[in-house]
Amino acid sequence: MIELVSESRCIQCNICVSACPTNVFDKVPDAPPKIARQSDCQTCFMCELYCPVDALYVAPQTDESVPVDEKTLIESGLLGSYRENVGWGPGRTPAGLREQSSQVFRNFNSNLSTDAQGRILPWNQPSTNPSPNTERKTV
Ligand code: SF4
Ligand code: SF4
Repeated sequence: MIELVSESRCIQCNICVSACPTNVFDKVPDAPPKIARQSDCQTCFMCELYCPVDALYVAPQTDESVPVDEKTLIESGLLGSYRENVGWGPGRTPAGLREQSSQVFRNFNSNLSTDAQGRILPWNQPSTNPSPNTERKTV
């Protein structure tokens, strides 16, 4: 359920007002939008996803409001974290893709031939590392 509009981050673009499918927010002249109908929130995360400055927090609890405070949300990295994990925003990569990439890198690394000090050996050079997992096969 939507819990917070950050007054310090909001740039009053009102994108969240338009993005919300259940009309939870009200525009406020010269101020951040107001959460006017919290109980209508469907916990769909669309507002958090579209907010360009990570100023919204939607809690995962769908049926009840939970107390939150902005400082704690910022310190824990939760404010705007849905958008970050989806990979929306300049320079961001979806969390799933980040995990996939690091897995590929780990797999790649585990197939490299290394010497006894763990240094990567040039291709086709026999490995001196006795571990069978680090042997690079040659054709
Ligand atoms: S989308 Fe974000 S920045 Fe824009 S009005 Fe809503 S909370 Fe503020
Ligand atoms: S989570 Fe969905 S329903 Fe709830 S305020 Fe945001 S956009 Fe509206």
